[in-house]
Amino acid sequence: MRLEVLGAYGGRHKNLGTTCFRVREDLLIDAGNILNSLEDEELLKVEHIFLTHAHLDHVVDIPFLIDYTFRFRERPLNIYGHPETIKAVRKHIMNWDIWPEFSSIRLINTGDFSINYVPIEPGETLNFGNVKISGFSSNHTIPTLGYLIESEEGTVVISGDTYKNKILWKNVNGNKRVKAVIVDVSFPSFMRNIAEASLHNTPQTLLEDISENLNRYDIKLYAYHLKPSTLKEVERELKELLPDVEILRDGDFVEIKEKV
Ligand SMILES: [Zn+2]
Ligand SMILES: [Zn+2]
Repeated sequence: MRLEVLGAYGGRHKNLGTTCFRVREDLLIDAGNILNSLEDEELLKVEHIFLTHAHLDHVVDIPFLIDYTFRFRERPLNIYGHPETIKAVRKHIMNWDIWPEFSSIRLINTGDFSINYVPIEPGETLNFGNVKISGFSSNHTIPTLGYLIESEEGTVVISGDTYKNKILWKNVNGNKRVKAVIVDVSFPSFMRNIAEASLHNTPQTLLEDISENLNRYDIKLYAYHLKPSTLKEVERELKELLPDVEILRDGDFVEIKEKV
């Protein structure tokens, strides 16, 4: 399995995109940076988007993706997420006030509705042939799902926006197929109060969380969702406190090769 990082950050800045992972050409996790990173023919292949939650940095490209691909599409765009995520996207964005409600607009080519919303609960697993996606609860200010992405080579876990989260590490400790965890490290430690108020990690809170709750040493950890304004501080701190953690950037790949 080869996950492509289309957007790695927790905010936008010149040449930095917000959270978006391409699992397969038709399947993405979060919609933070689609239009800037994919070619036209690739945009048309996107059929499934799993949202971790409804915050803007994770959903921002849904309106623009459907707007651009609408006239060419043969199949609807399926949007998956916690029921509260789906509710928020529909109520606050795709509501005719901010953007058209595409789930009531039919595709020109097939007559199907353009967007199909699929609410999923924590613990639910959806099967897409060679890939399975399961959600679990993260620890954030609004209902948020982390995801296990399972393939025959093993499983990659994306934490979703989160502060310390026992459920995340329980999924990792108890599942030997998990090879890699991509985890939120948004703020430097001097902003711990802001991280705690907004329920995100700092390098220090991640260190505390894994010291207390992760009991495996064969897991590769990747940091994502760094805030652009404090990028340098977090990079420096991660190097000191957690030198084995790899910091993800736009365009990177997370690859697991061995079959298990
Ligand atoms: Zn975020
Ligand atoms: Zn968030």
